[in-house]
Amino acid sequence: MSDLRPTGTGTDLDPWLATYAERASGLAASEVRALFAVASRPEVVSLAGGMPYVRAIPRELVAGAIDRMLLTDAPAALQYGSGQGLPRLREHIVEVMAEEGIAASPDDVVTTTGSQQAIDLVTKLFIDPGDVILAEGPSYVGALGVFKSYQARVVHLPMDADGLVPEVLEAAILEQRSLGRTVKFLYTIPTFHNPAGTTLSAERRPRIVETCRRLGVLIVEDNPYGLLWFDEAPPKPLQTLNPEGVVYLGSFSKTFAPGFRVGWAVAPHAIREKLVLATESAILSPSSFNHHLISEYLETVDWRAQISRFRDVYRERRDAMLAALGRYLPNLTWNEPNGGFYVWVGLPEELHSKQMLPRAVRELVAYTPGTGFYADGSGGREMRLSFCYPTPADIEVGIQRLATVVNGELELVRAFAGTVSLAPRRDDRAVGAPPPDLR
Ligand code: PMP
Repeated sequence: MSDLRPTGTGTDLDPWLATYAERASGLAASEVRALFAVASRPEVVSLAGGMPYVRAIPRELVAGAIDRMLLTDAPAALQYGSGQGLPRLREHIVEVMAEEGIAASPDDVVTTTGSQQAIDLVTKLFIDPGDVILAEGPSYVGALGVFKSYQARVVHLPMDADGLVPEVLEAAILEQRSLGRTVKFLYTIPTFHNPAGTTLSAERRPRIVETCRRLGVLIVEDNPYGLLWFDEAPPKPLQTLNPEGVVYLGSFSKTFAPGFRVGWAVAPHAIREKLVLATESAILSPSSFNHHLISEYLETVDWRAQISRFRDVYRERRDAMLAALGRYLPNLTWNEPNGGFYVWVGLPEELHSKQMLPRAVRELVAYTPGTGFYADGSGGREMRLSFCYPTPADIEVGIQRLATVVNGELELVRAFAGTVSLAPRRDDRAVGAPPPDLR
């Protein structure tokens, strides 16, 4: 039997350690995930996770859709389905996307297990180890995790209040090419960015698309929040400007419920064919049950009215968060998102969001340190606050607690300034970072 034991050196904890594929070294628990355990204690006000407030959906709407679906579709709903996704659902996805101005046909749509799986499949299709993915800095932590697991080199591009800067994008592509690297795609969240809360302006959208078209760089547009606007509808998705150059990702997670795990990709024909093969290889077929259920929900429930209810809930929470920040933390900086779930907060020079977190948890408030949103762990002077889940009253309490933490930490740091040296800042970007003038 001894020749069946793992080869190489393992540890007591994991005797298989030496046998993993190299890409498995990129699999590490995200900071957000580690936080969930702490932040889910009821006494903690969590401004950390990005969980949609699903209680805003009347339970009877979902129960009714489940009942009707089981009465009419049970045999098909309990069976394997098409790898590309239930045709009836893909027709509805086309209707949902039309709300944002996208003109697609059901054939263009590939359903996925949440848009997270779409990110994984696209990365699997395009990335060899060392290939460059351009992404906003900061960027979505779940996408960065995928990119790392495929050994991509993530190059962050800075944003301003209007999102990605077209000139910076072009310079970064050329810079990477001059270093002999292959730029495979731009991963972007142009609308109600996670975590930055920003939206790419209407004026910049065609310029970003044109730059990528001219330089032959594919765009992966991740848009789970586009329908959740508060004050005015955002500009149309990048996909509408060049359907042949964009893989567009959508999801029911924020506009319906993440528990169903249904998202989708819309891609140019050839890429779509590959995506179908990749998803079949990963999961054979998506959940027929959930596809039938969501189709039933979309056909029989006024889902537009439900999305509008979500907007009202999140608008009120955003307002509560901005007001509380103004009241209790006027010494910080933040943006005012017009949709989505997040406010991105800048801390004073002396503070470090990751180092401050244990103190925050002791004060019963949780947030996500900025460090999770950069591939190289920079972002210590930033944090993400989510307003989607806690009630306005809890947001008020949470920000009040956060003020105690921030001001307490500041007092401490300032009292010891000059006598105690803090841990070194991680402002140095790792390999693959844009040059200093692009940050
Ligand atoms: N992209 C972004 C920008 C997100 O914020 C999320 C969820 N937080 C996802 C993708 C994944 O969403 P899902 O898999 O639930 O569709």
